[in-house]
Amino acid sequence: MTFTAEFRCIAGCAGGYALDEVIYRCPKCSELLEVVHDLEALRTRSADDWKALFGARWRQVEEPFGSGVWGKHEWVAPQLESQHIVSMLEGGTHLTRVPRFAAALGLGDVRVKQCGTSHSGSFKDLGMTVLVSSVAQMIARGRPIRAIACASTGDTSAALAAYAAAANIRAVVILPRGKISTAQLVQPLAAGALVLAVDTDFDGCMRLVQDLADREGVYLANSMNSLRLEGQKTVAIEIAQQLGWQVPDWVVIPGGNLGNVSALGAGFDMLYHLGLVDRRPRICVAQAAHASPLHASYTNQWADLAPVKAKTTLASAIQIGNPVSFKKAVRALRAFDGVVEVATEAELADASASADRDGLFTCPHTGVALAALTKLARRGDITRDDRVVVISTASGLKFADFKVGYHEARLADVAAPVHRNVPLELPERYDAVRDALVRGLG
Ligand SMILES: *Cc1c(COP(=O)(O)O)cnc(C)c1O
Ligand SMILES: [Zn+2]
Repeated sequence: MTFTAEFRCIAGCAGGYALDEVIYRCPKCSELLEVVHDLEALRTRSADDWKALFGARWRQVEEPFGSGVWGKHEWVAPQLESQHIVSMLEGGTHLTRVPRFAAALGLGDVRVKQCGTSHSGSFKDLGMTVLVSSVAQMIARGRPIRAIACASTGDTSAALAAYAAAANIRAVVILPRGKISTAQLVQPLAAGALVLAVDTDFDGCMRLVQDLADREGVYLANSMNSLRLEGQKTVAIEIAQQLGWQVPDWVVIPGGNLGNVSALGAGFDMLYHLGLVDRRPRICVAQAAHASPLHASYTNQWADLAPVKAKTTLASAIQIGNPVSFKKAVRALRAFDGVVEVATEAELADASASADRDGLFTCPHTGVALAALTKLARRGDITRDDRVVVISTASGLKFADFKVGYHEARLADVAAPVHRNVPLELPERYDAVRDALVRGLG
């Protein structure tokens, strides 16, 4: 049996386009494209056989199936030949329980999908392995692609630079100057990417890179390119797999450009349509209050997008006022009985620190999702009987300034950090150290 997938217009225009065509938008109406799989072909293998196959490949040593993404090869990019796969063993991340965080909210089963414990430190690796592998195949087949380019608030560029370096393809990264963390700037530099730091915000970088892709023969790696979403989608499949092919009642995910919530929906849809699960979860998109155009639409009966100028937020990867995948996100949220919640700077910082007390080391975006969960629990929208999965999108290690600033109470918008913890500075005297110990453990 051969499995196939192609690009189609999300607005429903007729026609499909091969996944190795250089095309990002519908040529008829300019809407985004999405990857549509031949589900009939996939159905020739039973749900139980798919489960068994995915189970046998899970974290196995044989390349590339140990990758959480390529273990699902047929569902992701069926026409991509294995020899072109560029993998860093992404995915297969832990679904960690946070029992004390849950108990404090009166909840039962809350788990965090640790997507940040990945090759470049964020869940962007899941999509980038698919995109860079696809470009490697396009180049091998003679397409004239000079480089792969993206606009980024940090994590996309880190992932692109790493995977492009591994594939020996040039990467171009366009960043808002002075608006990303040191760790995020240094990752593409280290991987040898051409880094252009432009005096604008993310939305400005996005406009520039789209023009470059149209005119200069560089391939666009932003999430309007739906190849990436095919890799990101595997988060949903992994969650179900890790729960014994059950879906949770709720999934909470931070959202900025909104490609990932669409991907999450697409993953759960495929599981449902191919019979591996028997229902859909509800989805909550969590936005920073400083950058919340989706929330504005949600509270206004899913009104059309009104782009905003995003204000500075600690959750820098979702500081986006004009989300490219808005329509896809609304479609997914409507299908999944979804909600949108916002978190202030103090709420996201305290929620992040609270989950750290269960042994995590959460990034601010994960903090936004945890703060949204906190609000839904306090309102009684999510209760003790609900099984909840929170998507953690990046490693807290990329955001050391945020962590240190929190515990030293130096963050501008977080006046009174609830979980503050600082070292006790002591002289080298046994009694002083002992007193501090006794008081500290008190
Ligand atoms: C990209 C990113 C997000 C948001 O994903 P979107 O698809 O833009 O909504 C959230 N958190 C982190 C750490 C990211 O890098
Ligand atoms: Zn169209």
